[in-house]
Amino acid sequence: MRKPRVFARRITPEVLLTGEEAHHLINVLRVRPGREVIVFDGSGLEAAARVQRVEGGVVRLAVGPPAPARREPPLEITLLVALLKGDKLADVVRAGSELGVSRFVPLVTERSVPREIGRTKLERLRRIAVEAAKQSGRTRPALVEEPRRLAGLEAVSFGLLADPRASTPLGAVSWPDAGAVTLASGPEGGFTEAEVEHLVSLGYGPVYLGPRILRAETAPLVLAAAAAAVRGL
Ligand code: SAM
Repeated sequence: MRKPRVFARRITPEVLLTGEEAHHLINVLRVRPGREVIVFDGSGLEAAARVQRVEGGVVRLAVGPPAPARREPPLEITLLVALLKGDKLADVVRAGSELGVSRFVPLVTERSVPREIGRTKLERLRRIAVEAAKQSGRTRPALVEEPRRLAGLEAVSFGLLADPRASTPLGAVSWPDAGAVTLASGPEGGFTEAEVEHLVSLGYGPVYLGPRILRAETAPLVLAAAAAAVRGL
């Protein structure tokens, strides 16, 4: 039986799980005392643990010694994704986390239909990143940052920008062996020319993802999948 992975802020010999972590174990997985689980702390440490007690919505775990687990890609992948309509960012955060993205930065762009993300939605995206980390065996859940405006972005040492008008195909990119890469994709209506110029001035190379126009939630995942396929394994 697959061992459930649970998140705890600190790995100590005894961990008490409450709130959503406990709810999931008790009501969804129906764990009983004796069940083995894995605890991870989001900093790269993991430990084997055993359920000791389940009572009053609290799960008590006896936890073994923590050890570093290596399941993170060698590239630090930051994905800048334009604010998208509906719940599409949730899909990007879920699948991007599985692909090894370390940081998601929602971007307020000229053509983004939503102009902001409410606190509740941002917290939900962060919970999705933790859930995706648990499900995929990651040891560090991806960060989901506050939305940024393009004008406030910093220069990057290696950046790519998905643009259907670009002449460089994604397959021609020489990825660095390690370090940080920043990947940007636009909203449903695309980046404006001025936005593309601004990103290029910050060091982003425009890339073409093929002759088909991908949905705004598909394109960022293609960028992340390319990084994962070339350097993330
Ligand atoms: N008409 C818009 C345009 O010309 O940019 C299409 C926008 S597309 C639905 C949303 C975003 O996905 C784009 O801003 C771009 O970042 C990315 N994208 C979609 N298909 C692409 C492709 N074939 N090549 C490069 N980027 C693409």
